[in-house]
Amino acid sequence: MTDCLFCRIVRGELPATVVLDTEHLLAFRDIHPQAPTHVVVVPKTHYDNAVELATADPALAGELVAAAGQVAKADGLDSFRLVTNTGAEAGQSVFHVHLHVLGGRALGHLG
Ligand code: C5P
Repeated sequence: MTDCLFCRIVRGELPATVVLDTEHLLAFRDIHPQAPTHVVVVPKTHYDNAVELATADPALAGELVAAAGQVAKADGLDSFRLVTNTGAEAGQSVFHVHLHVLGGRALGHLG
């Protein structure tokens, strides 16, 4: 996916504040943070959304969640929220699967 924004970040073509870089995953601080900690974790391989990822590569989906936990721990969080939006109506704006790691402030109940 040559034009995908997050593929370009993965390739180092666009700047990002990287907090974790593994063989399969990259995590970087969100440019419009919604909480003191707001990191997005992405697989380096392109999948449009979390369902596609988990269907095609369940192990990688598990790695993604585990990495989100590592990111939270590195920021000193033992309480945090993981969010993944699927589809434009749900708020997805970048169609490369990513987990938002949010924490560092009280987060309200959903709904
Ligand atoms: O869930 P959604 O697809 O809307 O999330 C995309 C996220 O990617 C946004 O929170 C946006 O601020 C972030 N972003 C980023 N760096 C970019 C472009 C978008 O952190 N260069």
